[in-house]
Amino acid sequence: MSTDHTNGHTPPAPASSNFLRGIIETDLTAGAYAERKDSQGQPLPQVVTRFPPEPNGYLHIGHAKSICVNFGLARDYAGRCNLRFDDTNPEKEEQEYVDTIIDSVRWLGFDWKDSTGEHLYFASDYFDQLYSMAEYLITADLAYVDSQSAEQMAANRGNFGEVGKDSPFRNRSAGESLDLFRRMKAGEFKDGEHIVRAKIDMASPNMNLRDPAIYRIRHAHHHRTGDKWCIYPMYDFTHPISDALENISHSICTLEFQDHRPFYDWLLEHLSSAGFLQKPVPHQYEFSRLNVTYVITSKRKLRQLVDEGIVDGWDDPRMPTLVGIRRRGFTPESLQLFCDRTGVTKSDGWIDMSSLEGALREDLDPKAPRASAVLQPLKLIIDNFPEGETVACHAPVYPPAHPEHATALRHFPISNTLWIEQEDFMETPVKGYFRLFPPTADKPGSRVRLRHGYVVECTGFEKDADGKVIAVHCTYFPDSKSGTEGSANYKVKGNIHWISVAHAVEAEVRLYDRLFTDPHPDAGGKDFKAALNPNAKKVITAYLEPGLKDAKAEDRYQFERHGYFVADRIDSQPGKPVFNRTVTLKDSWVK
Ligand code: ATP
Ligand code: MG
Repeated sequence: MSTDHTNGHTPPAPASSNFLRGIIETDLTAGAYAERKDSQGQPLPQVVTRFPPEPNGYLHIGHAKSICVNFGLARDYAGRCNLRFDDTNPEKEEQEYVDTIIDSVRWLGFDWKDSTGEHLYFASDYFDQLYSMAEYLITADLAYVDSQSAEQMAANRGNFGEVGKDSPFRNRSAGESLDLFRRMKAGEFKDGEHIVRAKIDMASPNMNLRDPAIYRIRHAHHHRTGDKWCIYPMYDFTHPISDALENISHSICTLEFQDHRPFYDWLLEHLSSAGFLQKPVPHQYEFSRLNVTYVITSKRKLRQLVDEGIVDGWDDPRMPTLVGIRRRGFTPESLQLFCDRTGVTKSDGWIDMSSLEGALREDLDPKAPRASAVLQPLKLIIDNFPEGETVACHAPVYPPAHPEHATALRHFPISNTLWIEQEDFMETPVKGYFRLFPPTADKPGSRVRLRHGYVVECTGFEKDADGKVIAVHCTYFPDSKSGTEGSANYKVKGNIHWISVAHAVEAEVRLYDRLFTDPHPDAGGKDFKAALNPNAKKVITAYLEPGLKDAKAEDRYQFERHGYFVADRIDSQPGKPVFNRTVTLKDSWVK
């Protein structure tokens, strides 16, 4: 059986326009970033974006949005997108997260390589430059060392509607501040004893301009710089400078950073005028974050799910992490399609989970090979089929709507004992039921087509001592085989799938569903654990058609009538497949 190659790069659907594209196109027309040169004097691309994760956790669906926006714009405007780890926080960061983030961005289909090399960066690589720039700001009376306690500093910061108070250390001389800063660096002080602040305006209506902190003391080991530093630059100081050092043109982030933009601009204006950074400097643009219904993305809450054993780890297929989503069976192309469709706006809103699932179905429908799987098995015995014999049957691997694959066939035998779905038999059929039901005094049993096989007529059934149906009996019509002339003589309304018992592959199948039953599990401070879906994972033993025996990890299939499934990338092995249900064929969550 052939497999899909969903890691291949299909060309993206034409991207719809949005305000960021508008800005970029205006800048391109004006040549706003046309004159910049790299350190070798070579012209830089006019569009340079970046994805700047903090390596302190696993990426989730919201990050996928940011990745698709940043890398997507770079791709569409012949630019470049850097992957930059914002690793200024020594305590929380680890190499493990760096590795998984790199892996997830690659899996999503993006790359930070171009003709000039690899554009993978770490903010910690700029610690020396950041330090020099902080020294410059102090010398230029644009920053000072504050020695207030954290409590005093908070009290003097003021509030919305209440101006802040200048620190008593605000007017200490540049020489004194510089000396203290150097001694901070030399390790003479304890955490929190001093802090470096930009000197802007303690009365600004924007709290972010009330002398924001730019350097703090932290006697902590850093995952890359080790014990070299005991002072670390603050995020709001590091981020704009890292953008400028990397020649970012359009620095795209989520709306909560809007109030940080004035400091971004203040800093880059001063440092570029002083010759530390090339002009024109990058500009920050904000868009609304992606919120998906039935999903939580808070790192703290996701960690709780893992730590309390509610899910089976960060890559549990129910998790909204990219490692979880991947293991669930989503394709990178479906995530790109979804992110593209959800657009880029400035207004916060919720995207329905069904549009993510819809994008997946749309992506997989043409490329997922079809297969049969019986998930709730019941035996069907064909009493007039010779015992021990088999007849070869076949079916197209891909649906007829896709003529490019028309010749690919899958092969499987029929015999006298088959697995069918329990729901394909009813002892007493309800109105409109066209599948198997037994004869009654005045009516023969129903006739159905065994897909890609023969037409059979139901003749009876067996029950166990508890009254449970354990086998259904039928007879078949030898001249009714699909694809033969005689088949046209049989008009039946029911069409069911089946697998020969002797040839079926027994496999563990995990039926996954949404993790929460509430579309907004943690809205308004609700207890998200109260909204857990008890049916989000069911493990069953199913029977698969013979060709699935050698499925490779991450091979995806449509199990006909059931949904899309993927061979689990960790637990599945050729010869012993384990499948995860990625999504059902139809949305059962529509209200
Ligand atoms: P933290 O609270 O730890 O900062 P974070 O989700 O912001 O968590 P980062 O590693 O800082 O994690 O995120 C990297 C980038 O991804 C940032 O630019 C951030 O704006 C973006 N991002 C995070 N969540 C979303 C989301 N839901 N939609 C769009 N972009 C997002
Ligand atoms: Mg963040």
